[in-house]
Amino acid sequence: MNFVSSKNTRFFSSIPFMIPIRVLILAFCIGFSFTKCNFQKASAPLPFPVSNDIVSQSSHHLEWIKVKETVWIHKSYGEFGGQTYSANGLVIVTNKGVVVVDTPWSESQTEELFAWIQSKFQKEILYLIVTHAHDDRMAGTPLFQKRNIPIFSTSLTAKLAKEKGFGKTNPILDIQTRLGAGNQWVEVFYPGHGHSADNIVVWLPDTHILFGGCLIKSLEANDLGNTKEANREEWENSVKRVLSRYPDAEVVIPGHGDWGKLDLLRHTIRLLVSPDN
Ligand SMILES: [Zn+2]
Repeated sequence: MNFVSSKNTRFFSSIPFMIPIRVLILAFCIGFSFTKCNFQKASAPLPFPVSNDIVSQSSHHLEWIKVKETVWIHKSYGEFGGQTYSANGLVIVTNKGVVVVDTPWSESQTEELFAWIQSKFQKEILYLIVTHAHDDRMAGTPLFQKRNIPIFSTSLTAKLAKEKGFGKTNPILDIQTRLGAGNQWVEVFYPGHGHSADNIVVWLPDTHILFGGCLIKSLEANDLGNTKEANREEWENSVKRVLSRYPDAEVVIPGHGDWGKLDLLRHTIRLLVSPDN
């Protein structure tokens, strides 16, 4: 199947790979064991008891949040340092099947995703888009591979995913790519470095929903989370590019935490320019 309808332009060759020294120092100080994304500490009631004890991944269960009839958030949970955090991905329902954006944070929750899609929609999964090479976006990719579901990413994410052992993706996405999905369109946009070098956002033109992924922080986030691979100088510019590209977004969904409107982008910029972060 050929899902790509737009022309792609080469751009990754021009990505600056210089990372400011202070980012490296900060990353070293806070993140030697961090492999997760920009966490949002779970604040909503959890479907399992939470304590300071390590809770095994298998006790985490996927949750569903309806944004529109055709767009759902799959909310999964992961552990870091004895704490539980949530992560958002998307399921887009079309007349031909569903599109998944990012996998849940574990394989067991990815099995729940498959079961739920089957029971609720009785539709096949057309393809998976991963928005960057971190495990809260890609932990379930082996299960998609097992089912022969196409996994799309940018070439940079494909390269980083391979290096990190997250599996193989098909690098068909470029700086801007529109994918057909039954009666809907799914657009991805690479705005530049931010939370990671490869973070992309997903735009749904039919419903005016913007999935910001880990580039965008929720309003309840007080800090930037894990900045181990972040480029703070470029991050602000990247958010501004998204803001000017999608000014008519009605719903903005961050990688972690509650969804809202475009003020999530302005909040992210505030966090970036704050001397406390
Ligand atoms: Zn991340």
